[in-house]
Amino acid sequence: MKIAAVHTHLLDHKLDVPFESASMRFDRRTHVLVEVVCDDGTTGWGECLGPARPNAAVVAAYAGWLVGMDPLETEKIWVTLYNALRDQGQRGLAVTALSGIDMALWDIKGKHFGVPVSTLLGGRFRDRVRAYATGSFKRDGVDRVEDNANEMAGHRAAGFHAAKIKIGFDVAEDLRVIRAVRDVMGDDMRLMIDANHGYDTIEAVHLGRAAAEYDIDWFEEPVLPEQLSAYREVRAGQPIPIAGGETWHTRWGMKEPLETRCVDIIQPDLAGCGGFTEAKRIMDMAALNGVRLVPHVWGTAVHIAAALQFMAALVPNPPRVNPVEPIVEFDRTPNPFRQAIVTAPIEHENGWVAIPDGPGLGIEIDRAALKEFAPKD
Ligand code: CA
Repeated sequence: MKIAAVHTHLLDHKLDVPFESASMRFDRRTHVLVEVVCDDGTTGWGECLGPARPNAAVVAAYAGWLVGMDPLETEKIWVTLYNALRDQGQRGLAVTALSGIDMALWDIKGKHFGVPVSTLLGGRFRDRVRAYATGSFKRDGVDRVEDNANEMAGHRAAGFHAAKIKIGFDVAEDLRVIRAVRDVMGDDMRLMIDANHGYDTIEAVHLGRAAAEYDIDWFEEPVLPEQLSAYREVRAGQPIPIAGGETWHTRWGMKEPLETRCVDIIQPDLAGCGGFTEAKRIMDMAALNGVRLVPHVWGTAVHIAAALQFMAALVPNPPRVNPVEPIVEFDRTPNPFRQAIVTAPIEHENGWVAIPDGPGLGIEIDRAALKEFAPKD
């Protein structure tokens, strides 16, 4: 079997109400899918985290090396593509584009052998995972404290056992939000906070110390991802476990954060860290260093399906009778691409998500939907 062609599909949707994290404003949702087509007609799907058009341009640049290669040789292809841009790459778009391609190749491999990717990765430790709701962005024209409390009431009513809220805007207002949200969710739901690297070290330590009484499971991306010593300072300076890693790419990007214990929980992204090939290595490195792993997920059904396959194969660490089970990040903001682009949408039921067990990623792409959401310009 040989790779015959590589295509990208841009998806674009204008939001009715724009929203913000501490570091980014969203007026539209845009994503890019990668389609790898083989000479026997087998097709694999992947997705790249980050800006859609720049990712598509890098995927197109990789296509010259890919065409003619055997899609089952995932490691060989990974090394070939990584080496091709290594001197100007090593992280960022060079790796997010590679991630989408690698994801598509594992989809092909699963379809070729008639098994889900999780089986290829070593086996399914679980057939379903608990989901945690991600939302509570800052929305235009509403009171943030009230808006977040209302949204949390909805997550609770929908059956979620855990939810993550956005902070990193202003310490005093963020603490008011945390208090209001904890009040609504009661003490039997787990709460996580995500600053999207909006704070400096002093703010992050202050917030962490003050928020600890609200029983927070983790404090995500407190400071800029390049500032590893600041991560260590925040982790040592306040009592909430620290999480991060969605912008750290490849085994080399994860090495120092893991070995110097910048985080208690590492969050590689399947569509950003280097795909399944690299995420498996990162899983082993996290286990080696005694760091918990919870993948970052932000994208379409393709990205969610990939994360679910990876999570099915996540080796319990430590292995014990009732191990700590992974939880899947489940974005609750308006995004039609979670459902519309697949023939069987991946949904939660009372806060649980079943992991598809069909070949590859276990999803079917709805090509009519891809056309419908293609950018009009
Ligand atoms: Ca995050």
